[in-house]
Amino acid sequence: MEDCIFCRIVRREIPAEIVWEDEALLAFMDIGPIIRGHTLVIPKVHHDPIEDTPDEIVAALFRSAKRIAAAQRESLGAEGINIIQNNGRCSGQAVFHIHVHVIPRYSDDGHHW
Ligand code: 5GP
Ligand code: ZN
Repeated sequence: MEDCIFCRIVRREIPAEIVWEDEALLAFMDIGPIIRGHTLVIPKVHHDPIEDTPDEIVAALFRSAKRIAAAQRESLGAEGINIIQNNGRCSGQAVFHIHVHVIPRYSDDGHHW
């Protein structure tokens, strides 16, 4: 996907604060964090929406979201975590390359959905 922002991050054509990667996945900080520490995890191969994404990639995305959540509790002192995956413009999706949001939460963070 030539113009996809997340494919361009995978190809290192635009900068991102990458926090973890393996052969199949990339995790990086969201450019507009809802809460400090808001992280995105994506597959390196373009897929969208979730129903058209291979099961093994969906499973790998959520396995890595689980590890990022654990790191947010340990290193950021998060008291809770939101894990969010949007599909379709009406759901709030703005980047059409499957991604999982991992958002650390604090009892006093003042954020309301
Ligand atoms: P969506 O609304 O599609 O579920 O979430 C897309 C997320 O990608 C948003 O939270 C937005 O801040 C983030 N985002 C959009 N463009 C960029 C970018 O160029 N770099 C990074 N790091 N995050 C981006
Ligand atoms: Zn893409």
